[in-house]
Parts: sequence; structure tokens; C-alpha cells
Amino acid sequence: MTANEAIKKQFGRGMDECTNEEIYIGLLTYIKEMAKEKESSQGKKKLYYISAEFLIGKLLSNNLINLGLYDEVRDELAQCGKSLAEIEELEPEPSLGNGGLGRLAACFLDSIATLGLNGDGIGLNYHFGLFRQVFEHNLQKEVPNPWITPHSWLTRTDKSYPIHFGGFSVQSRMYDIDVMGYGNRTTKLHLFDLESVDESLVQEGINFDKSQIERNLTLFLYPDDSDEKGHLLRIYQQYFMVSNGARLILDECIAKGSNLYDLADYAVIQINDTHPTMVIPELIRLLMERGLLIDEAIQVVSKVCAYTNHTILAEALEKWPLHFLQQAVPQLIPIILELNNRVNRKYQDPAVSIINQDNCVCMAHMDIHYGISVNGVAALHTEILKQSELNHFYRLYPEKFNNKTNGITFRRWLLYSNPELSAFTQRLIGPGFKRDAMELEKLAAFSQDTAVLGELLSIKAKRKEILRDYLRRTQNICVDENSVFDIQVKRLHEYKRQQLNALYVIHKYLEIKSGRKPIRPITVFFGAKAAPAYTIAKDIIHLILCLSQLIGQDPEVRPYLNVVMAENYNVTLAEKLIPACDISEQISLASKEASGTSNMKFMLNGAITLGTKDGANVEIAQLVGPDNIFTFGDSSQQVIERYAKNEYVSRNYYERDPQLKQAVDFIISQPMKAVGSSEHLERLYHELLSKDWFMTFPDFQDYLHTKDKALAAYEDRMHWAKMMLANISKAGFFSSDRTILQYNQEIWHLESAPERN
Ligand SMILES: *Cc1c(COP(=O)(O)O)cnc(C)c1O
Repeated sequence: MTANEAIKKQFGRGMDECTNEEIYIGLLTYIKEMAKEKESSQGKKKLYYISAEFLIGKLLSNNLINLGLYDEVRDELAQCGKSLAEIEELEPEPSLGNGGLGRLAACFLDSIATLGLNGDGIGLNYHFGLFRQVFEHNLQKEVPNPWITPHSWLTRTDKSYPIHFGGFSVQSRMYDIDVMGYGNRTTKLHLFDLESVDESLVQEGINFDKSQIERNLTLFLYPDDSDEKGHLLRIYQQYFMVSNGARLILDECIAKGSNLYDLADYAVIQINDTHPTMVIPELIRLLMERGLLIDEAIQVVSKVCAYTNHTILAEALEKWPLHFLQQAVPQLIPIILELNNRVNRKYQDPAVSIINQDNCVCMAHMDIHYGISVNGVAALHTEILKQSELNHFYRLYPEKFNNKTNGITFRRWLLYSNPELSAFTQRLIGPGFKRDAMELEKLAAFSQDTAVLGELLSIKAKRKEILRDYLRRTQNICVDENSVFDIQVKRLHEYKRQQLNALYVIHKYLEIKSGRKPIRPITVFFGAKAAPAYTIAKDIIHLILCLSQLIGQDPEVRPYLNVVMAENYNVTLAEKLIPACDISEQISLASKEASGTSNMKFMLNGAITLGTKDGANVEIAQLVGPDNIFTFGDSSQQVIERYAKNEYVSRNYYERDPQLKQAVDFIISQPMKAVGSSEHLERLYHELLSKDWFMTFPDFQDYLHTKDKALAAYEDRMHWAKMMLANISKAGFFSSDRTILQYNQEIWHLESAPERN
């Protein structure tokens, strides 16, 4: 059946007589139908990827691509005078993730399905997602992001469990989203929801009554955790997720014949960061309910779970006060105490205890002691875990530690988001790269071919025009497509150092004011959401928005420099921004960005990285060589030593460097205060001068020089195109298919599915 026939069946008329809304609904039904009967291998052992976040992005086009129907449906629509691009704009993007961690989980599901592995995702069905970002008076405001429309990708299932908390119980409901792999295999994303959820609880903005757990549990992702009620709600959410997950897992394993003692032959659970850690005590509890002794239950569960660490930032390593857990999930307390006692009996080192001196439960410690594997997400990150952050544990369990450098799905980040580059690549090296990303290396053969290099430049120019039109239409932003597109898009965090980029912008602005004009105009793009309670992050957004306004209003500077802060950065925007990028800003403080994945998306789309020697940037640099990347700044070793000595004084750098001083002082200058708020600007200024915890000042001069070097290199267009080609040809390593194959070979050990298609 064609899409048009399916729509006729549903609406009694063809595409040409349907509204775009009707076509969207018709395509949803059609695609769900096509996905049936295409489930992945149903082997004995199954992977459960549990994650509090799945930043899946829009699914319509991606699903059509993976089902091999994209061109056909697009042409069918075109024949009826309809546009697939317009129809997909009707699809709301679910914001079921904050950033990289959630997007990684989504890329992994795509690869698991594509490789035909037996594995599903387990998470929560947040009705309003994270939040939608709007700018008002140069400040971020948060509003709900509802995405569950009467017709959505969710399918209600008949699975429902009673979940017990201290003092009350709720009923859950499982919803499924089909995850379509490239080449017609599908797996499932199981999202658990609260039967009694009440959307009317949301009052002003994203505020709601945090005490009414029975009604609010699945309203938002990571609600404001700046107060006690917020912390508690997070614990309730996490337990709700893992208790449902654990019951589903046991149900499925028992149905396949497990006697529970052999659970590890049927299930492996990947714990994505510490948010799902309570699955360990919960599984033990459920096994004991089913008759296992505690010794037996602990032994069984210790063979099932594997933990992925995503950060070394202390504030992000979850430690829950025992009394919070006592209040929310009292049934887990005896088990957690027993797990802790066993650790303390075996090892006398308080550093590896599960419950620390402050009576807090260190979630990561539970994962490491009672899991089969601990992995970091890039080579450098894993080394830092082994040598410093988790060194105490590495010495106990060296065999558990391993690295899995992150990856991205090339279906979404190349085939869908950059069809021009994808088609050109296919003309040069054939379609093999779509299944085996390493085949992109064949592009290297064209490094002296001026026609190929010229075409790469025209594709980039085309993508810049597409972005220009998109931003004008959707955000009323004007950009000059002939300028250099320099892009930094990621969550707003001090360690990612958007403030360093902003200082560069100020420096350039002052240079232009004093008559030194760049050879070619520069457009500096930002896109970033800040956590609602993260004051300094919001001040940095304010700084960027003020710079954007100030420069936009200045006829002397505007022709040479433009600052764009795109509103509500999400997957949809990323898909437009990344293919249009010339310079990819990856400027985190060395040692702090565990991996990064946008660095990989940019590289794949022919942007050149301007970055520190951090996370996966290190691996990018190794692959492309020093001539095809711009690196700068202190090394992770230098940074770690500077922290250890505890002698960093930002003011010393400020006083020794007149250019830095001038840029920092400008933050609180009259022109800035004329467009911004003194409170925000002064707070940021004082933060930088009195603390600068993420050490922007020591890297400032090197950043200026290296960025100017990159801008100068851009002017040799043929040489730049060669660099682009080198980056694209080496990007294959960063396919999430490679990452998932490594997880499977080294941790999960699932049987892989026979080739099908
Ligand atoms: C890839 C991606 C991220 C991760 O970006 P990093 O630069 O690696 O932090 C965050 N948000 C969205 C929408 C993404 O697509």
C-alpha cells in the first residue's frame, strides 16, 4: 500500500484533498502499520537501556528514511502539491532530554534497531518535557513544552503496575514508541506514565505543586531541584522509572523461561548515568518477593547491571540523603543498608562506601560495586576516571573499567539533515557508507580533486542559505550567508565556556570599533538552554543576548560582526544549524567535557573544530591530524594540577592582560547596561573576577589567536575544502553503530540478528 492509498483508506479522500494536519495523522498511522512485524531479533538475552532521558527529536522523516520510504512519500506528496518539509513542521518535538546524555540514548536506540540487536529502551513519559525556552527582555523564560497530541507516536499498551511509595501507591501505564532502524528492523522505547497524572496542576510558566506526587510525577523532566521538594520529586520519578522497568524485565524473562536464578542469561541492563541506579536494590527486592534469599538475589543482580558514567563534575554525581529515600521509598532502605554493610565489611576504605559520612547514598558507588561494568564515554574521560575520579574503585575492580567512545547516528545527522552532502557522497563512493560508516574514508582519494572540493564548498553555501531562510521564517533573525558561520550549540554551562566565546565577541567588537575590520564578516551563533535555577548560566545568556542587540544596533560594527542567539535550541534546530557550520566551537575546559557529541555531528558535516584537548576532541584530533583541526588551551593534566594546587586567582590574569581586562570590563560598561540589566551583568562580572571556576582567563589569549588563525585559514577556500574533506572522511569512527557494536562485544554479549532486508 502506498501512503496515498493509506490516507484514502483513513480519510476517504486522497492526499490532494487533505489538509496538512490530516496528512500528518495519516502518515503516522501508515508508518506505525509499516513498522509492525519488523521487530528485531527475539533472542534469549535482551538488553534494557534504562535512561531518564531520550532526546529523540521529531520522528516522521527519520522513520520514513529508516523504512526506506522517504523519497517515495516525498514524491507522492509533491505530486499532490504538498510538501513533506511543511508537514513535518506540524510535528511537535518532544523535549524528553536535557542535552547530550539524552540524545546519546536516542542515537543508541537507532543503532540497536539498525543492527538488529535484541534491546529496548526504558524511560518516562514526561508530558511537558524539559521546557521550551523563550527570550524576553534579553532573559530566558521557561514555558511548558506539551508534545502529546491526540495523534502521536505513542501507543498505549495494556501493561500497568501498582507502584508503592512511602505512605501511598500509584498506578502506572506503559506507552511504547516504535524505534525504526535503518533497513526495517524495529525495537521499542517503553515510556512509563502515571495513570493519575493531572496536567491542570501546572500554573504559571513551569511551576506546579511539587507535593502532589500522585498527580505530578510525570509532568516534567528534572523539575527545578533547587529546593527540597524538587529533590524528593526526582527520587520519586527515579523509583517510578526503575520499579516499572524492573517489573517489565522480570515479566519478560519469566515469560521466556527464566527461573530467576539465571536472570543474567536473559537480561542485561545498561544504566545511563546514575539516575536509574535504584534498579539494583529494586530488582533485589522483587527477587526476594519471589522467594530468593537476599544472598541469592544480590548474586543474581550483580551479574545483570552495567553502568555508564557521563561526568566528573562533582555536583552532577548524585548523592541522596538517606532520610529522603526513607521517606519516598522505605522498602529499599533495608536493602541499601545491607549492600552498604557488605561493602564496608569487605573494604575498610570509607572512600568506597555506599553511604558516606553525611549519611548520603552515593548512587555511582552502588553501580560500581554491584555492576559488571563501568564505562566512560571517551578515551580521555575513561583515563581520568581510572586515574583520579574513580581511582579508589579502579584499584579494587580494574577489570570492570572500560571505554566506549560515544557516537551519533548517521541516519539523522547526515542522511536526513544534510541530503545534499549525502547524495554527493553517494555519487563519489557509492551507497556503502550508509551501512558501514567507515567507508567514508574512501573520500580521502579526492583530496586533490578541485571539482570535488569546489562541490563541497557549494554544498556548504547551499546549507548556509537554507539556514538563513529558516531562521528568518521561524525566528525573525537575519544572517549574512556570505559571512563565516561560527557555531556553539549545547547546554549552557560554565564548564562549556560560552562565556569565553562571548569574551572573544567583545574583543572583536572593540577591535572593529577601533578600525581593525575582519577580512570577511563573521556570524557567531549560539543556541543553549540554561537550567531554570542556574543563575550564572542565565546571566551568560543575558550577556549574549545583550551583545546581540548592541552589535545589531551599531551600523559601524554590524556589517562585520553578528551575534545570533537562536531561541529554544533542540534537535530540530540542531539539524538545521549543524550542516551550515564552518567553525565548530568545542571549547570546554580540558578534562570537564566527558565526550561531547555535537563535535562529531559538526565534523561529519564538514565543519572544522576549534577546540580544547578535551573529551572526544582528542580522538577527533588524532584521526584528522593537527593540520585539520584548531586546538588551543591548557591540557587536562595542567587543569587537573591547577585545581589540585588550589591556587588559581582569576584576577591575576585580568590584571596582567590589558586585552582581557578590556573585554571583561566591557560586560559592565554603559553601552551594555543600556540594553541589559545591571544586576545580571554585574553578577557575571564579579563571578569571573572573583572565581572563574572553569578557568576561562588562562585560555583567553590562546583562544583569540587560534580563532583568528582559523578565520585566516578560511580565506584559502581550496585549502579549507581539503580540511572539510579530511574531517568528513574520518568521521566514520563516530558512528553510534560502532559504539553499540563495542557495547555488545564487550559488555552485553547479545546474539546479533541475521541480516534481513
Ligand atoms: C547533540 C546534541 C547535544 C549535545 O551537544 P554537546 O555539544 O555534545 O554538549 C545537545 N543538544 C542537542 C539538541 C543535540 O542534538
